[in-house]
Amino acid sequence: MKCPFCGAEMMHGYLNCGMTLWSTRRHKLSLQPDDKETYALQLGMAMVSPHHIESDCCPNCKRIIIDGSGYKNNMH
Ligand SMILES: [Zn+2]
Repeated sequence: MKCPFCGAEMMHGYLNCGMTLWSTRRHKLSLQPDDKETYALQLGMAMVSPHHIESDCCPNCKRIIIDGSGYKNNMH
């Protein structure tokens, strides 16, 4: 796919990560969301190997695009 920011062809790959949480607020310690925040891409502790989130990375501007629809979230 083409990068929507700069138009370069993006590279397909995986975000290899452990516990993950996209949120409207900064978490200092726990990654457990509460009911006052909006969150997406919630992934718990990676047990055996890291999580592998399919995504595209732009080799030019380094932006990464993730389809978060298949991951736990509280958005409607
Ligand atoms: Zn780009």
